[in-house]
Amino acid sequence: MSIRKMSLIVILALSSICVLVSSLKIRSLLAELHSVETFAATGLASGRLNKGIIELSLERSLTQLTLNLQEPITSEFRGMLDDQRRLSDAVFDDVEKNLLNQGVLTRSAEFSAVLQSLRNKIQTLRSEADGELARAAVERSPEKVTNLPLNMKTVIKRLAASTLMLRPEGVRLPSEIVTLKYIQRYAWEVREYGGQERTYFAIATAANEPIADNTLSEMNTLHRRGGVAIRNLSLSAEGREGGGKLVSDIRQMIEFYNGRYSDVREAIALSSAQSEPYTFDFQSYFDLSSEALGRAISLSYDANERIELALSKMLEDAHQQIQPYSAIILATVLLYIYLGYYMWSKISGRIQHIADLMTALANGDTSVKSRFLTANDEIGRMAQCVEIFKKNTLQRKSLEEESRLLSELNEWLHLSKSLDELFENSRPFLEKLLPETDGAIYIYSNSRDVLDGVAVWRHGEVHAHIRPGDCWALRRGRSYTYGFREIGFRCSHDNQKEQDAPSTCFPILADGETVGLMHLSLTQGGDREGFRASLRLARTCAEHLALAIANVQLRDELHNQSVRDPLTGLYNRRFLTDTLLSAIQESRHTSAPLSIVSIDVDHFKRFNDEFGHDAGDTVLRELATILADDTGGNDIACRNGGEEFMLVWPGTDTDAAHVRAEGIRQRVEGQTVRYNDGTLPKVTVSLGIASYGVHGSGIQELMRAADDALYEAKHAGRNQCVIASANRGVAAQSEAENADASQSLTLITA
Ligand code: GH3
Ligand code: MG
Ligand code: MG
Repeated sequence: MSIRKMSLIVILALSSICVLVSSLKIRSLLAELHSVETFAATGLASGRLNKGIIELSLERSLTQLTLNLQEPITSEFRGMLDDQRRLSDAVFDDVEKNLLNQGVLTRSAEFSAVLQSLRNKIQTLRSEADGELARAAVERSPEKVTNLPLNMKTVIKRLAASTLMLRPEGVRLPSEIVTLKYIQRYAWEVREYGGQERTYFAIATAANEPIADNTLSEMNTLHRRGGVAIRNLSLSAEGREGGGKLVSDIRQMIEFYNGRYSDVREAIALSSAQSEPYTFDFQSYFDLSSEALGRAISLSYDANERIELALSKMLEDAHQQIQPYSAIILATVLLYIYLGYYMWSKISGRIQHIADLMTALANGDTSVKSRFLTANDEIGRMAQCVEIFKKNTLQRKSLEEESRLLSELNEWLHLSKSLDELFENSRPFLEKLLPETDGAIYIYSNSRDVLDGVAVWRHGEVHAHIRPGDCWALRRGRSYTYGFREIGFRCSHDNQKEQDAPSTCFPILADGETVGLMHLSLTQGGDREGFRASLRLARTCAEHLALAIANVQLRDELHNQSVRDPLTGLYNRRFLTDTLLSAIQESRHTSAPLSIVSIDVDHFKRFNDEFGHDAGDTVLRELATILADDTGGNDIACRNGGEEFMLVWPGTDTDAAHVRAEGIRQRVEGQTVRYNDGTLPKVTVSLGIASYGVHGSGIQELMRAADDALYEAKHAGRNQCVIASANRGVAAQSEAENADASQSLTLITA
């Protein structure tokens, strides 16, 4: 496994773990947050409710007080009572409006219903109280005066009990809040018990009569309860770490409560028990109690505010705790998005591209090109492989094309009857197979001292002749390339116009013998490397050409051997009859004259006998040279056999033939033949001339006429020319002869 892959897997695994852990953590934090929110909301609700309960307690005290007054309620008390009612209503409105409707409280609906019904109850009690308060004490129902405050107290107790509904489940309260809640509760108790006690005092004072025993015992109970609340408050304050303003307020409140307030209260209790008119200052009692109870209330409010503060701090902390985990999840999600994008853009899209390339290549489309050849990764390597496949495919295609063209070239080369045809046929193939080259082909002349320029392709130039020494390849005996090495010399036959244009010469070898030369040069606008690459194929072409040239040359040689006389090099009798027949047909069509001459050496038997057969052969060869020299155009000179020859002269009439034959006779007569170190005696020839249409119209007739004329020349003394007798030409006979000319031909040849 590559390091790249491993690191990818590790990154994915780690980020997945991060997401998993963060999700779990966030889940638990969210649950916790929900609890905290619920708790905070319920805490706030119960805090406010407590506040409302305090206000309602004050209202109850005030109601109880005014109900116990003798006179109908004064406008001053009326104002105080209304204010107190408004205060308590405002708190309950706030609880309903801001907390119950948020949907955070677990038992919100239930609590809301209870609160509503209790508030309705309060309204009823208020109306009833107002009815009583408007009357003087004597007109009031004693039952209502006693029960209304008790009923209000019941409502207050039920309200206090209803805060249990607001207690959140499964939430562990921080000790700070627990302590504050206790402080709040004990402070409220101090105020509540003190308030009730004060109400009794107030009622007694208003009635201006001693406090009844049972009332006094209730007041003492209330005072004891207040004392317990004070102790609890003191314990809570001591348990609270760090002290601070709240603790000092509690201490001051306790000090005040236990100090002057308790003293004054004790004095009143003693005084009232004596059933005498009160001997002390009520005003100072009310002032002290107001301050003591006011301190308790403000303590309660202060604790409530602190609870609210602590709750909002808790909420804030919970939100803050979630933040880092949210950040981790966000980062991981971004990482996934990036990885997804990376996979798509860097891997998936690119793999698709490579797949498309490969499909195109498989379908034979070699024009495709990869965009990622330079990429330094697996995709880059794949693209490079595809490029190699493409190159191989192109190479294979080009090799297939080459091989097809070579095989076609071969076929055409072997169909060629002559060298000219061979070079003509090979030209288009060479142009196609060697597209970067201009070319020329040279073949050794028979004399082998020069090479003749025989073929050229594209823009190549060819010299009529070059000498073997003009070419480095011919001098070295192997191919020579100019233009790819730092030092090199151009062949002198290579007249390239561009100085550094490369060129190559391949000797054309057949059966180990150099038969010619193939010269290649870079064509105008061609590619140097393309030229270089084509040399291998050029060599193959040269080999094919060499073989074909050798074949044609061999065929020419065999043909020559079949139509030439080996001793003299003149045509043989078979060739003579073939060509004479064509010449006769040609003359018949064109009406051009045609003459033949039959030649025989005089007394050659005697010559042979005297000088030997070899000397005779020498004479025959010399005679053949004279005849060949005289032969031009379509003329034919041939050896009929032995020391007899025949000449065919198309376009020559009898008279002209006679003049030419006489010329030959004279040249033979005048010829001296060197043999060994000496000279042979002169020989003479006799010649018989016959012309087509004059002395015969068929081949046999014509030849017989010439032979007859020759016979006459012999008879007349030899070494002379005789024209055949004119009366020999018979048209009808010649027609018959022509009809089976080919048959006669065979006879003659045999
Ligand atoms: P005439 O003047 O009547 O033609 O006399 P002749 O001796 O030439 O005639 P004849 O036909 O009797 O003799 C022909 C001679 O030519 C016979 C033979 O010795 C000679 N001869 C034929 N073929 C060759 C050849 O290939 N080489 C040589 N050296 N002699 C040949
Ligand atoms: Mg003869
Ligand atoms: Mg003879």
